[in-house]
Amino acid sequence: MTAPTPRPGILDIEPYVPGKSDAGDGRPVIKLSSNESALGPSPLAVEAAKRAAETVVRYPDGAATDLREALGGRWTLDPARIVCGNGSDELLEMLPRIYAGPGDEVLYSQYGFALYPIAARAAGATPVAAPEADFRTDVDAMLAAATERTRIVFLANPNNPTGSRIPASEVRRLREGLPDDALLVIDSAYAEFVGRDGYTAGEDLVRDSDNTVMTRTFSKIYSLAGLRVGWLYGPADVIDAVHRVRPPFNVNGPALAAAAAALGDEEHVVRAREHNERLLPRLTQSLRGMGLSVPDSAVNFVLARFPGGPDQAKAAETHLAANRIFVRGLDAYGIPDGLRINIGLDREMEALTDALRRFMEAA
Ligand SMILES: *Cc1c(COP(=O)(O)O)cnc(C)c1O
Repeated sequence: MTAPTPRPGILDIEPYVPGKSDAGDGRPVIKLSSNESALGPSPLAVEAAKRAAETVVRYPDGAATDLREALGGRWTLDPARIVCGNGSDELLEMLPRIYAGPGDEVLYSQYGFALYPIAARAAGATPVAAPEADFRTDVDAMLAAATERTRIVFLANPNNPTGSRIPASEVRRLREGLPDDALLVIDSAYAEFVGRDGYTAGEDLVRDSDNTVMTRTFSKIYSLAGLRVGWLYGPADVIDAVHRVRPPFNVNGPALAAAAAALGDEEHVVRAREHNERLLPRLTQSLRGMGLSVPDSAVNFVLARFPGGPDQAKAAETHLAANRIFVRGLDAYGIPDGLRINIGLDREMEALTDALRRFMEAA
């Protein structure tokens, strides 16, 4: 054998399965499979990206100075404690490489975001999933699963694909119960969708800790998923380590410009949040009315579980796809009886509920 061999753990990775996005025939579809925001990006952000496209002959500002200052201003954070990433995925992937290796454990919740075990294995570490009750992070189970080998704890709050969240008091209790030398990563990809009651995105915990970070993204409420911009707020020592590891020009110029412009268009963000607040309860109710089981969601998607189990969920996914509506099957998450459906435009939601109702009535 002379061919190169991946390090131990790499071939144990279950490759990430993205949401289906086209029917292969070039005709329009209703895409409700990847949690992108219904209203699309701010026109100011698109304009900024186009303008920045004129200057792509130059390397971008590798320090992302303007964007970090805009973020610091918007969220009242120290820009020196922010680092930007090529999507928050890049940052989430870097942390295990920095803090965990063979023999170490990376802890997350049973139905936590699919990237966490991938990032753990890519670093050679061992992913450990703490069981959930009722599709919600169980802080006691997380604490019980932590060991002296736990180096990183990933918490998506709200979580994808369940849509559920835990209150700030529970996040604090998790932090207080974990070993001090385990890094808690609060992944707040959907923070901007969440009503304030009892929720914070985590910046309060990060501000006065040396072992907690928060990650955020421009892919969800800001609708810039295609440009890949995320950011991390953390203690100075973590920021320093990430800067050493990250590629020097990890966020491209059009992406930096668009993100800063998106941040400046707060009205657009408010519109997107209000759209979601109007349609989320409607979708939840109509799905429950059809007999599906839907945990309360705080975000722009719901988890819908079928009374007829995995076969019915598969058949529903196929039926919707035949109607050119794409939702996300959840086999990879170990929820084979569920589909994840994100909030789209009014007419898209009507098409979805009509098609699903026909399916359930025929069942
Ligand atoms: C979508 C998502 C991300 C990743 O977003 P990027 O596009 O990489 O910024 C991270 N965490 C969760 C929970 C997500 O759903």
